Amino acid sequence: MDLLEYQGKQLFAKHGLSVSAGSAVTSVEDAVAAANEIGYPVVVKAQVLIGGRGKAGGVKLADDEAQAREHAQSILGLDIRGHIVRTLWIEHASDIASEYYASVLLDRQAKQPLVIFSVEGGVEIEEVAASHPEKLIRRHVDSLAGLSRREAIEIATEGGADEDVIEGVADALVALYEVWSEEDATLAEINPLIVTPAREVKALDAKVSLDGNALYRHPENQGLSDSANEDPIERRAKEEGVQYVALEGDIGILGNGAGLVMSTLDVVAQAGGRPANFLDAGGGSDAAKIKQAVELILANESVKAVLFNIFGGITRCDEVAKGLIAAFSDLDTQGIPFVVRLDGTNDVQGRELLAQAKLPGVHPAKTMNEAAEMVVALAAGKPVGAPA
Ligand code: GDP
Ligand code: MN
Repeated sequence: MDLLEYQGKQLFAKHGLSVSAGSAVTSVEDAVAAANEIGYPVVVKAQVLIGGRGKAGGVKLADDEAQAREHAQSILGLDIRGHIVRTLWIEHASDIASEYYASVLLDRQAKQPLVIFSVEGGVEIEEVAASHPEKLIRRHVDSLAGLSRREAIEIATEGGADEDVIEGVADALVALYEVWSEEDATLAEINPLIVTPAREVKALDAKVSLDGNALYRHPENQGLSDSANEDPIERRAKEEGVQYVALEGDIGILGNGAGLVMSTLDVVAQAGGRPANFLDAGGGSDAAKIKQAVELILANESVKAVLFNIFGGITRCDEVAKGLIAAFSDLDTQGIPFVVRLDGTNDVQGRELLAQAKLPGVHPAKTMNEAAEMVVALAAGKPVGAPA
């Protein structure tokens, strides 16, 4: 779950990282009022979940009310690479002596948190990595011990931070690490981390992504999702406690177990189809749960055909078939064809139950490949033989 800059800054402030106070607004009038209250110069900043806002005209300094109005007008509604600006963040403009870069993320390969620091901030960090890799300090952290102040001082020193701000930078790194670990973030990035002429170290920007699966541990962060930009079906799935990820194709996918669902996506793609979603129905064969999952899949109007891929283990295929039959008797499938692949424990019985039930538009399949080919054909409007 990605946070807007101002939300990231709220988390920074909570952990003692220095940021400028400001105001989030959604109208020109509120922007001007906020700017007047904060005092000029102010910076007017587009709040969208994409970087490079400065270059796109989404970050502007205003010296007086007229400029604040002009910038708020030009930035609200601006389309920054597909992200429409609906919220502005107004803060008192900072004077900048240097722009550094700092981030904390999980290095999956090393299975450890990674702190990155550079004195070449303010620009795309990928550019620094490509042209001056030696100017990027990368340091793994023992996740049980956390980032110590001593390590942070070493990172700041090695990275070439100005002598007089090494302690300030180290404090910022320790606080950033705390944001990352205590808020269950997957990324906490500051670009630029500035040094002011008064030699204060401060976060001028914030890019924070929180781990959605850990949100239950942070009820206070649950309101931070950018619901205006969130997929409505994903939001509904989250509310209903279903593992659902929206994708861009037209074939609805449902399986039991995340690994099976992922391989189903692959098999469908290999058969030339485009999955519309990832949905893990988990274990169990409860008709109400199956119904809920099917309803979520069909809420996506792009879906032209659905593939149910069930591998029976502890949950037996005949039980799943019964759940399916009960769910379908209570469902409006809107004429959308379903391919149901049942394999594993009691699969023969399960397929027989399905065949007997003669559910309209339901096509049983035996193997995953067969099921994938059938569903791709059905989504393309081709016949695949008589439904069971
Ligand atoms: P991004 O382009 O989306 O990364 O947005 P940033 O928040 O990083 O802002 C882009 C650039 O605008 C920064 O690198 C700064 O150079 C400049 N900028 C942002 N805020 C201020 C400010 O308060 N004062 C000054 N002088 N420049 C700022
Ligand atoms: Mn930035």
